[in-house]
Amino acid sequence: MEEYCVIAKERARRPTDFIRAREQRVSKECPFCPGNEEMTPRAVAVYRDDGVFADGETRIRGWWARCIPNMYPAMVQAPDAPTGEWVAMPARGGHEVIIESPEHESSPATFDQETISRMVKVYAERYRYHMQRGSAYVSIFKNWGREAGASLSHTHTQLIALPLVPPQMMRELSAISSMPACPYCNIVEREARSERLIFTKGDWACIAPFYSQTPYEMWLLPFKHISNLLELDESMLEDLGIALKGALHRLSALLNDPPYNYMIFQMRSGYHLNIRIQPAVTKIAGFEKNTGIHINPVPPEQAASELRSVS
Ligand SMILES: [Zn+2]
Ligand SMILES: [Zn+2]
Repeated sequence: MEEYCVIAKERARRPTDFIRAREQRVSKECPFCPGNEEMTPRAVAVYRDDGVFADGETRIRGWWARCIPNMYPAMVQAPDAPTGEWVAMPARGGHEVIIESPEHESSPATFDQETISRMVKVYAERYRYHMQRGSAYVSIFKNWGREAGASLSHTHTQLIALPLVPPQMMRELSAISSMPACPYCNIVEREARSERLIFTKGDWACIAPFYSQTPYEMWLLPFKHISNLLELDESMLEDLGIALKGALHRLSALLNDPPYNYMIFQMRSGYHLNIRIQPAVTKIAGFEKNTGIHINPVPPEQAASELRSVS
């Protein structure tokens, strides 16, 4: 909420300025591809047509999605006590990787409707699991492309369950509590009638936010005041999948499958769920680290217009 950005029209760019060479995508030796399940830790949830299972001694095959512990976790169930002279707390929580599809050469931008729909349902289920275990915050995010932080090219989402509400969210909640009404309700209602609207799908709006930190940043917001994925009914969850795929498809078509991050912002209660998609096409460098202010050479109105024009 208290983010700043500079819309630098003087540095104006066209979509082609952000297009870079595609990464070589290989499936040989990919630990996330079917047949290579032994290369990963035991899955905590294996999704198949006949149910959800956990891996035992042998790995379960025939899955359409798999959820595995991260090999290099940032948070663990039973952490060591912290040491050192500064304030510290144990890294208690969870760190999982959700492999959303067995297909190596696919991504949410190209998923069919069933796959994207299943993906958001898995997000909701894993969110529920960690919130029920007492996590204070569950971060769900996707890094797509090496420049966006993905170390493996096979499509996957990360989930990190935290023992605390992160400072960024605390600041946001504090700002929201000082306002007379929910700012996101205001944003979605106003922007749905603005030139920054990209599209709507059912109860969802996809907008280029006024305070876009990156070129072609997109937000997905429900029109209804809903705090998290668990409050969505079946049809809103379904529409979220379609809207997310629609947004990513537009981005991919316009910028030739650029690296990006998307992040789900949600809270147990008292919040307005939103999903932010940020293409990783500009560098976070000295100025941003020194000031926290992002320079964005593409005005959101231009971004929305170009994203709208993708069929
Ligand atoms: Zn793969
Ligand atoms: Zn709201």
